[in-house]
Amino acid sequence: MKHFSPILQDLINAFKGLPGIGVKSAQRIVFNLIQHNQEKALFLSDTIKNALENINECSNCRMYTDSDLCEICSDPQRDSAMLCVIESPADMIAIENSMSFNGKYFVLMGKLSPLDGIGPDQLKLDMLESIVKEGAIREIILANSPTIEGEATASYILGLIENTDIEATRIAYGVPMGGELEYVDSSTLTQALNNRSLVSKK
Ligand SMILES: [Zn+2]
Repeated sequence: MKHFSPILQDLINAFKGLPGIGVKSAQRIVFNLIQHNQEKALFLSDTIKNALENINECSNCRMYTDSDLCEICSDPQRDSAMLCVIESPADMIAIENSMSFNGKYFVLMGKLSPLDGIGPDQLKLDMLESIVKEGAIREIILANSPTIEGEATASYILGLIENTDIEATRIAYGVPMGGELEYVDSSTLTQALNNRSLVSKK
């Protein structure tokens, strides 16, 4: 890499290591931006700067927003009695795109992982506890990922609502629509079997 301009190398390094981008892709992106898309490159740099300066966490649910409250928390049409707990803003977008949920959310921004130094404080579970104590929630949907850390986080949250009237549900993970069983990995299949629901009439 010695024959590269250090400025060019810095730019490649800035892209390298982003999710899904290795060194080859980083080089392709950088050369494309410089050769053919300088206007787009400037737009990219401006929008990143703008987002970093103006985006913060919603004071109620922790979703990224440019106001105090996010669009969902400030929407009176959303059902405040249903709270879906998710691990990331991307999870919220996925659920919103499914158009199957009209409640509110709480974004943990991660999952409990003591070995990585992520405990209840990092997930701001005290914020979730205060929301629970306000008493408006009827059902809490635990949409934590089906991993050891996700399950541990879900159990911790169950502990928070132990002495309340809130009903806790866990989303089911299973076979994708149109999927064939032979292509489904074994942990997904185990979850699908464990979360089977009754279909007979009785
Ligand atoms: Zn919010």
